[in-house]
Amino acid sequence: MISDTQAQRILDAVDAAFDEQLRATADLVAAPSLRADEETAQDLVEARMAALGLEIDRWTIGSPELEAHPGYGPSTVDYSRMTNVVGTYTPERVEGRSLILNGHIDVVPEGPEAQWSRSPWDAEVRDGWMYGRGAGDMKAGLIANLFAFDALRRAGLAPTARVHLQSVVEEECTGNGSLAALLRGYEAEAVIISEPEEDALVRANVGVLWCTIRVSGEPTHPREMANGFNAIDAAYEVIGALRGLEREWNAERDRHRFFEDLDHPINFNIGGISGGDWPSSVPAWCELRLRVALYPGMTAAEAHAAVEDCVRAAASGSAERRPFDVRVTPDGFYAEGYVLEPGSDAEAVLERAHRAAFGRDLTSFTTPGYLDGRVFVNYGNTPTLVYGPVSENIHGFDERVSVESVRRCTQSMALFIAEWCGVAEID
Ligand SMILES: [Zn+2]
Repeated sequence: MISDTQAQRILDAVDAAFDEQLRATADLVAAPSLRADEETAQDLVEARMAALGLEIDRWTIGSPELEAHPGYGPSTVDYSRMTNVVGTYTPERVEGRSLILNGHIDVVPEGPEAQWSRSPWDAEVRDGWMYGRGAGDMKAGLIANLFAFDALRRAGLAPTARVHLQSVVEEECTGNGSLAALLRGYEAEAVIISEPEEDALVRANVGVLWCTIRVSGEPTHPREMANGFNAIDAAYEVIGALRGLEREWNAERDRHRFFEDLDHPINFNIGGISGGDWPSSVPAWCELRLRVALYPGMTAAEAHAAVEDCVRAAASGSAERRPFDVRVTPDGFYAEGYVLEPGSDAEAVLERAHRAAFGRDLTSFTTPGYLDGRVFVNYGNTPTLVYGPVSENIHGFDERVSVESVRRCTQSMALFIAEWCGVAEID
């Protein structure tokens, strides 16, 4: 246990460096890190980690071992130039419990920039919010990991356990970045992932599957349209069938622990559609990009099989329509959900840290979006605390993160590190 005066020194140290922390966050938001273009942003993170005296490990994530892992999401991009960065702190004498502080560097596309009130990359702070693509999800958290860790040194304290600070790629599409870090051998007795989670702790989380569904048609000239087969019209039938499966899974939510009270935990998103070659040709093909959610306990293979059965049934013939060809190809997340079992020491330590930083109790909740927590829980068997600041509009226009919430979450994480890892006074 740390003393009250040590705790106060840590809280003060976070406050003293907070302006610098905001500038570091803004700098990172200003380095767009869309998929397969994260290297400039990772350079910034690496430089900051090196400045903290951490031992740097930076490596390209692709490997046969990764591709063979059951949690691997099939990738459609080249991993030969995409890197993870891990900075490791090793104490002179190990006494406490080891820790991973994880965050992802990748951000989702900004969409039509004209619909933002300002550039998505200028990280303006206005009325207590920092704006920008990735400000909330999750560059504020990633930088908070670094400043929470360094707050101990600023407070004259040194952790007495190993700490790994991870900046991973691929969280928004496959989860292969964190998985690659696990396969590289990074393990610890607890993990914190500082995703934007409303100052609360994630208790349970869905798995996610991505796939492309390709519907094949029969092209003809529209003057003889009845002789052709319209793949785009048929894709609407596939979408209708998928909505049916989505309804079915949502109706089962009372059978899934921690999901009973959610209105609509399972969301299928048609995230992309393309098809046809010419306005005056009946379209020969249509592709849907699909994101599916699945409850913890269901395997990705089971979810994939259910989606395949569903669309095949839609594609079989009826009295009004001939059968058509449809193919389902996984091309991203192939990830199972997880539950953070209540009662871990890690959670108890976070409860105390949160109370000290926020002056109120920590709450937990279930979130219907993907989290890298599944890597550490399902494959590392490690208590994983997904916990972080209040945000709005992540993945939308004018994404923003609450500055005050970032400050308090940083304080809470710094206290957590001190209590979990233990501290020694620096002479
Ligand atoms: Zn995120």
